[in-house]
Amino acid sequence: MKRFEYVRPASLKEAVAALNMENAHLIAGGMDLVPGMQDNVIPADRLVNLKSVKDAALRGIAETPDGLTIGALTTLTEIAEHPAVMKMYAALSQAAGVVGSPQIRNVGTLGGNLAQRPRCWYFRNEEYDCLKKGGARCFAQDDKADNQYNAILGGGPSYIVHPSNAATALVALNATIHVTGPDGDRDVAADRFFALPRMRLTQETVLDPGEIITSVTLPTPAPGSKSAFVETAEKAAFDWAISGAAVSVTMSGGSVSAARVVLHAVAPIPWRSKDAEAVLVGKSLTEATIKAAGEAALTGAKPLSKNAYKVPLTKAMVRRALVAVV
Ligand SMILES: Cc1cc2nc3c(=O)[nH]c(=O)nc-3n(C[C@H](O)[C@H](O)[C@H](O)COP(=O)(O)OP(=O)(O)OC[C@H]3O[C@@H](n4cnc5c(N)ncnc54)[C@H](O)[C@@H]3O)c2cc1C
Ligand code: SF4
Repeated sequence: MKRFEYVRPASLKEAVAALNMENAHLIAGGMDLVPGMQDNVIPADRLVNLKSVKDAALRGIAETPDGLTIGALTTLTEIAEHPAVMKMYAALSQAAGVVGSPQIRNVGTLGGNLAQRPRCWYFRNEEYDCLKKGGARCFAQDDKADNQYNAILGGGPSYIVHPSNAATALVALNATIHVTGPDGDRDVAADRFFALPRMRLTQETVLDPGEIITSVTLPTPAPGSKSAFVETAEKAAFDWAISGAAVSVTMSGGSVSAARVVLHAVAPIPWRSKDAEAVLVGKSLTEATIKAAGEAALTGAKPLSKNAYKVPLTKAMVRRALVAVV
């Protein structure tokens, strides 16, 4: 691993200032950043340790009159096991609770989970200078490529899938992400926080240079709301999902009055399916409605050479998530 500077800022202001340099990165739990540096795919000349910042807003989970606030340094274990998250925001608790392994969840933070880099094999291999690393081509889209884990929706010119479990749940739960940076503070709706490759090819979020996620807020769920997150991975632990879904559904008088359906690990961003949501609203959650929502969710899917299996699998994920909220 090449030499790098290590900075321990005492305040968010100092952290933002320390990031004002090419190849400077925040480090929180280090679960994603350090392996990327070891593999020579994330060039780093300076690490800025967010954990040395004393600001209380970065830490813990607080219930407020409007919902819940979660600091960016809160670990995935703390989120998964928090009673209010489990009770009111089940999709987030479930999503955080199946990330990687207990060790990863004990160290990995919410901010790092949302800002983690893609897992595409070509991105993670220093020998492939692909588009996402500033190179000239996407290796995953070739017919003979190892693209079984890549995107079936929203791809082009890069076909990554967004790896963050928390991201998918937060979009379903209509969260807001709070950010600070060189130009001050701003709030970004979770469903506008992640950027398609055609918008920003070499990064996955709308964060500008020097910006730091400070916290996330979740609105108080409407009466009659329930949410769920489900995923499928090849291994029972230590693995990322190959498909999944998060749903949030509000029932009133026996029918769905509002719904959010978000597909996981099938697109470069958590993929909100307004087609599936339209199928659900105004209906009761019968087997036929759930099946129709699953079909609608995959509208427009365009598999690569080796990932057509994700289409039926993701329909099943949507059905399972909806069954979980009945
Ligand atoms: C074997 C394995 C399996 C995994 N499986 C899953 C999985 O199934 N689902 C899943 O979601 N994740 C999975 N992960 C990824 C893991 O959850 C994330 O790597 C972890 O949550 C990142 O958190 P961190 O605090 O360690 O981030 P770090 O590694 O410290 O940082 C990750 C990135 O985020 C940036 N960053 C960190 N904090 C902030 C912030 N506050 N504001 C802006 N940028 C920030 C860093 O600069 C860096 O680019 C897995 C990881 C491993 C090693
Ligand atoms: S999908 Fe994206 S990360 Fe993977 S090879 Fe293509 S450009 Fe690179």
